[in-house]
Amino acid sequence: MVDFTMARITEPNNRLKGRKMENEKDWEFVCADCGEKFVFSVGEQRFYLSKGLSVPKRCKACRRTRKATLNRDEEVLRWQR
Ligand SMILES: [Zn+2]
Repeated sequence: MVDFTMARITEPNNRLKGRKMENEKDWEFVCADCGEKFVFSVGEQRFYLSKGLSVPKRCKACRRTRKATLNRDEEVLRWQR
């Protein structure tokens, strides 16, 4: 009998590892905000994987905008406290 719980836990890691080792190339994504294509480079993939971050859904420009907005919101929260 196959242990499906274990399979579910180990599968995503194996898939990431496989990509990293065998399939090292730039990935192209479509930005969730502006709909433009953007490249997620091998260097960025390594960085994200090493930090345990999930794959970005937005292009660099939108990520920067989003980050700025989030920081501003945090600052507002801090001041309100
Ligand atoms: Zn974008």
